[in-house]
Amino acid sequence: MARCPFCGEELDYVIQWALEWIKNMVEFTSYGIEYSESDPVSVEKEEYECPACCAKLPLRDEDEVRAFSKGELEILFKEKARVKGNFALYDGKVYEIVREEKTDSGTKVLIARKITDEPRASIIAASF
Ligand SMILES: [Zn+2]
Repeated sequence: MARCPFCGEELDYVIQWALEWIKNMVEFTSYGIEYSESDPVSVEKEEYECPACCAKLPLRDEDEVRAFSKGELEILFKEKARVKGNFALYDGKVYEIVREEKTDSGTKVLIARKITDEPRASIIAASF
């Protein structure tokens, strides 16, 4: 289950803000102009936020949101994580770090995938 790292709320959806380009044909008619949508939309920029606390969630695209919804991808506070190379130990669990980001308020977070393969997780955990 996905949880907002900032307020701890269990989430069954997130808010997406999308800045999109829409290509329209603006036709000249006898009574003025008329818009007709002619091309599919392309997303210029997208952001996701927690519906409970409105914090911006550092997720980049649909694939990351899908992984986050399943609990496969998590947002960890860097100061609470033990980091070694590409791996992080957090609340006793082992993660592979995808990237590091800074929130708007300056908090460093890790976007990371939980390692679910137990033998592999134990080997990595033992190396910390
Ligand atoms: Zn929240």
